[in-house]
Amino acid sequence: MLVSYPYAYEAPVSQTLFDRASAVTPGGVNSPVRAFRAVGGTPRFMVSGKGPYLTDADGREYVDLVCSWGPMILGHAHPEVIGAVQAAVARGTSFGTPGEGEVELAEEIVARVAPVEQVRLVSSGTEATMSAIRLARGFTGRAKVVKFAGCYHGHVDALLAAAGSGVATFGLPDTPGVTGAQAGDTIVLPYNDLEAVRTAFAAHPGEIACVITEASPGNMGVVPPLPGFNQGLADLCRADGALYISDEVMTGFRVSKAGWYGIDGVRPDLMTFGKVMGGGFPAAAFGGRGDVMGHLAPAGPVYQAGTLSGNPVATAAGLAQLRLLDDAVYETVDRVAAEVSGLVSEALSKEGVAHRLQTAGNMFSVFFTDEAVTDYDLARKQEAFRFNGFFHTMLAQGVYLPPSAFESWFVSSAHDAAAIERIAAALPAAARAAAEATA
Ligand SMILES: *Cc1c(COP(=O)(O)O)cnc(C)c1O
Repeated sequence: MLVSYPYAYEAPVSQTLFDRASAVTPGGVNSPVRAFRAVGGTPRFMVSGKGPYLTDADGREYVDLVCSWGPMILGHAHPEVIGAVQAAVARGTSFGTPGEGEVELAEEIVARVAPVEQVRLVSSGTEATMSAIRLARGFTGRAKVVKFAGCYHGHVDALLAAAGSGVATFGLPDTPGVTGAQAGDTIVLPYNDLEAVRTAFAAHPGEIACVITEASPGNMGVVPPLPGFNQGLADLCRADGALYISDEVMTGFRVSKAGWYGIDGVRPDLMTFGKVMGGGFPAAAFGGRGDVMGHLAPAGPVYQAGTLSGNPVATAAGLAQLRLLDDAVYETVDRVAAEVSGLVSEALSKEGVAHRLQTAGNMFSVFFTDEAVTDYDLARKQEAFRFNGFFHTMLAQGVYLPPSAFESWFVSSAHDAAAIERIAAALPAAARAAAEATA
């Protein structure tokens, strides 16, 4: 294959598509981070993917380090996943009835993740967290929800609340359209701060329905829980009668066979999943303790539903992908992540760029700072301006990074030696751009 680097900063076909998109879609995209606002330039419109590579509308090929924000853990267009999808499509695309595929996918999830005794399928991670919180409130008869600053749980109204630093604060809405009433029962606390959680439970005994946390946060960059943090949350919840909800939409089935639970072994009452379990289709889930899940309609009184929940094509894709995710795949993904993150760190060190390479299993991200990043305030203190030049220099050399300094990078089992070599070749110039960047 003939490639000539660097690619031009301009991407004329993508730009034309973006102009058309911007006329008919707010900001030209269907999910904000795709618009490249943080890094500037033209968002690349992708036309195909194969293994570790994406090809854009201008015919340029990139090594993909986003992997659809996690789902494509086997790489793009894996033949067995595509085969399962094609077979499912040929049988019809939606029946509005139960089907065997849903049962098999639920059985696969229950078999992999011990705390999940029962599971309900939905179509997005947002639906999963929204439904889990409703269930927690319905089960406990309590209203308040504790979340952590910098943790993202989809665009659920009650969870689109962050707070200023330091103290236990009632959530103020992050966005117009979320009312004080919707966010008013949300308590936002600093991540990795068990003392703040203890204080919140002491201030609101018997009022907190649940604590929801990313099992290991990847939505403020990668900021893993400090040793004992997740266990502390589980213990504080149990002592008060609140539920501990571990959001594994990002980590689930990605960082191990049983997600982050497979790494830290802390038992949640409820868990949420998405991304990898959909195999590139809209499939997600929430599940957990049988007695809690038994409160969901039609078994119990807490209502939850979905026209396309358990869609046969999506479940076929998810099931095919999960069944391929054996120990060997996770070993490969872990090794690729270690290699790529090591190369990034080495290149930045060579240029004298202050940085922290933070990892959580095979998820990783770079913070342009000297300090270990343990919460959202520290994450935001990084010299994010260095990322822009770094990002565009990688892009020009055929490496597609998340277009933000506050996102995890993702690799797949399809990232082979050639793909890693291309990343290695691109890094020195990108590190130089980061070193030369000015605020
Ligand atoms: C992606 C994500 C969500 C939201 O999932 P969508 O499918 O985008 O609605 C929720 N929680 C976490 C931890 C995520 O990473």
